[in-house]
Amino acid sequence: MENLIASNDAVEQLFSLQGEDALLRQLEHQIKTLPEREKLSFLLETKKVTEDLIFAKQTEGVEFRKNEKRLELELSSIETRLEEVDGKLYSGVITTEKEAKSLQDEIGHLKGRKDALESELLEILSLSEDATTIINEVNSQLEVQNNDIHIVEDTLKRVENELTKKALEAKTRRDETVKVLKTEILKSYEARRELFPSDAVVRFDGPTCNGCHLTMSAMETDRIKGLEVGALTECSECGRLVVR
Ligand SMILES: [Zn+2]
Repeated sequence: MENLIASNDAVEQLFSLQGEDALLRQLEHQIKTLPEREKLSFLLETKKVTEDLIFAKQTEGVEFRKNEKRLELELSSIETRLEEVDGKLYSGVITTEKEAKSLQDEIGHLKGRKDALESELLEILSLSEDATTIINEVNSQLEVQNNDIHIVEDTLKRVENELTKKALEAKTRRDETVKVLKTEILKSYEARRELFPSDAVVRFDGPTCNGCHLTMSAMETDRIKGLEVGALTECSECGRLVVR
C-alpha cells in the first residue's frame, strides 16, 4: 500500500475495471432472475397437470370401451339364446304345459337381463362420450399451453443470449484493463472486492469517505491530503481503497 502511485490513466482504468465488475454482477443477477424463467416453470407445471388429466381420461376411456365390448358380447349371446328359446317354444316339439312354462320363464328372465344390460350400455356410452368431449377440450388447452411455452422459451433464450453477450463484452473489456494495470494496484483492488463488491475503490474528496460515508479524523484527512495525487491508500474506517 505504501508508495503505490497510480498514473491518471491507471486511476481511470481502475475505476473502469470497477464499473465492468458492477456491470457483470448486475448482468449475472439479471440472467439468474429473469421473470421468463419463473413463468416458464409455471407453464410447465400447468402443462403437466393437463397431461395427467388427459392420461386419466384416456385410461377411463379404455375402461369404458372394455365394458362396452363385454356388454355387447353378453347382449348378443342373450339375443341368440332368446331366438333359440322362442323358436323352441313355437316349434311344436313342446307337448307339456310345464315345458312351455319353463321356456316362457326363461324368456322373461332373458328379457329382463337384456333390458338391464341395454341400460348399462347406454350409461357407459354416455360416460364414454363425456370422456371424449373432455379429452378434446383438454387437448385444445394443451395446444394453447404448448404454444405459450414456446413463446416464453423463445423470449427467455433471446433475452439470455443478449445479456450473455453483454456480459462477454464486459468480460473482454475487463480482461483488457487487467492486462494494462500494475499488478500491485490490481491486487489491492481485488483484495477488497469481496468485501465491497460495488465500491472497493473510491476517490478521496475530503474527510467523508465515499464508500462508508464516515468522517475520518482531521489527522487522517491531512495525511491523505499530503499524499501525491494518484496515491493509493485506504480508508481508516472501512478499509476501502482510496485514491488521492
Ligand atoms: Zn470508508
